[in-house]
Amino acid sequence: MIRKRNLVFLGPPGAGKGTLSEILINDEKLVHISTGDIFRAEIRNGTALGSEAKAYMDAGKLVPDRLVVDMVAARLAKEDCACGFILDGFPRTVVQAEMLNEIAGKTGRGLDCVVLFDAPRDLLIQRLTARLTCRNCKANFNKLFSKPRKEGVCDHCGGELYQRSDDSLETAQNRLKVYEEQTAPLIDFYTGNGLLARIDSSLPKDRAYAALLAVLS
Ligand code: AMP
Repeated sequence: MIRKRNLVFLGPPGAGKGTLSEILINDEKLVHISTGDIFRAEIRNGTALGSEAKAYMDAGKLVPDRLVVDMVAARLAKEDCACGFILDGFPRTVVQAEMLNEIAGKTGRGLDCVVLFDAPRDLLIQRLTARLTCRNCKANFNKLFSKPRKEGVCDHCGGELYQRSDDSLETAQNRLKVYEEQTAPLIDFYTGNGLLARIDSSLPKDRAYAALLAVLS
């Protein structure tokens, strides 16, 4: 069992945060909180929050902090997070990180570790533009590196695989730029308070997972 259980997965889009989250929650009782997944569900359900978020997401921009922070605060306050959680894709700005400190103070859910997923830009673009996502269980596949057994069909649940609209080349490039400008400053933020651990996420996923377990043990 891993020792560090209140986690943030930090890193550029395509670095494998979602993929390793899926594997980790299979092995450990942790709640996976992906703010991107929550927004996509809001869009599917046709909510006001979803329609406000969609325009930003389609452009590869960040959804405004005010729309994200309350959503995460409400989720972290739920009882199931007591055994540990993975924040995947949150925080993405220094303001969000500061708000998360406040939320952690109020809910008693202080962070144990912030894992930085490191991978070169070319590989990220390759992964993003070839990514396939299951509409049903959200599992990720890749047309180049990790093909599903049957084309267009999820190996795990039989759901339909699709390409996320923000995984087009142009939007993927935008998302990486936004990451460098707005999210990468969090590396210094979390190095400063001693929480940051780095893994090489260009490795094949079994080796990247072993590296992840090593930093969480
Ligand atoms: P992801 O699935 O994490 O790649 O997120 C997809 C998109 O959702 C991002 O490109 C943003 O538009 C939006 N998003 C997800 N999480 C956040 C966040 N913490 N802050 C702002 N926007 C977010």
